[in-house]
Amino acid sequence: MIEYESLARSNQVYMTELENAATSVIRSGWYVLGQEVSHFENEFANYIGAKHCIGVANGLDALILSIEALDLPKGSDILVASNTYIATILAILRAGHCPVLVEPELETFNMDPMHLAKSLTKKTRAICVTHLFGKSCRMDAIGTFAKEHGLRIIEDCAQSHGAKLANQMTGTFGDAGCFSFYPTKNLGAIGDAGAVVTNDDALADRLRHLRNYGSKQKYVNEYVGVNSRLDEMQAALLRVKLRHLDEMTHHKRALAEIYFTHLPDWLHLPRRRADEYDVFHIFGVRHPERDHLKAWLLSENVKTEIHYPIPPYQQKAMQGILSGSWPVADELHQTELSLPISVGHTREDILRVCDVIQQFQRAS
Ligand SMILES: *Cc1c(COP(=O)(O)O)cnc(C)c1O
Repeated sequence: MIEYESLARSNQVYMTELENAATSVIRSGWYVLGQEVSHFENEFANYIGAKHCIGVANGLDALILSIEALDLPKGSDILVASNTYIATILAILRAGHCPVLVEPELETFNMDPMHLAKSLTKKTRAICVTHLFGKSCRMDAIGTFAKEHGLRIIEDCAQSHGAKLANQMTGTFGDAGCFSFYPTKNLGAIGDAGAVVTNDDALADRLRHLRNYGSKQKYVNEYVGVNSRLDEMQAALLRVKLRHLDEMTHHKRALAEIYFTHLPDWLHLPRRRADEYDVFHIFGVRHPERDHLKAWLLSENVKTEIHYPIPPYQQKAMQGILSGSWPVADELHQTELSLPISVGHTREDILRVCDVIQQFQRAS
């Protein structure tokens, strides 16, 4: 069986280093907001090329707290992709604002800059972009639009650790870059973790308060904060993984290259452009008979996933919140299939997936 992802197999590669890091945290006697967190924050800020990094409990909190820290008028409209993972939309709602959907491009799964103007309202104050599947959004066009209309930019980088556009890292284009280190992400912890990167001193300072009860100094509370701290254990484990992030990315990019070379041309592959450096958190292809193709692969012992089966606006939780018709999102949700691509997969695994897919055309 070729698994879609085996975290045990992916983490096995770095097991000794991870175990040593964990042991050292347990023995240290200091478990929340300490040395490991500050070292990780410095190292991750350096990696991304941002001035500040603030560790938080998870990616959703990174988004909620960043939006909150912008201090926009209550109930502002925030533009967001109609096909994003639900977390981006939940964050806008939890921060007290209104998500306004923007259709993505079929070829990239990312927010289409050409559709921004259509969704702009008098109350729009920000754009929350999601760099989906490890590909940067077109921040050149989106940035120009934001500037023209005086909009802040929040980047959902939960799937784009190390992804670049024109040599610039995702997370550094807007006011804040929000990362998740959920175990399956390209930089994955051994549990929940997240972080915000920013070049804005004031925003960083507010985030350092917000994540810890609105307090930077013990028992002095300056803001109505929350408890969303990154713990020492996850920070120590993330420091190990961060040292290997480029090598993990190279591995995934090499596997993607095999897909681009060997997958049949009747399958829609993600668009590639010379100035985009993709990190392939997900390798998403499209096919009109997606469900049949998925079943065929499974019958040949290849597991795949769908990202995502139901668009946010069709979720029960969004009734009365999101409305309208979103045909591009619908199309993507009906045709997308995610193929195995992880640190634990070998070249042979990926060649075998290509082989099984080749046979699907012959069978139908
Ligand atoms: C995973 C993910 C999140 C949420 O991260 P958590 O750490 O699970 O809270 C947000 N946005 C996107 C696009 C994601 O893929």
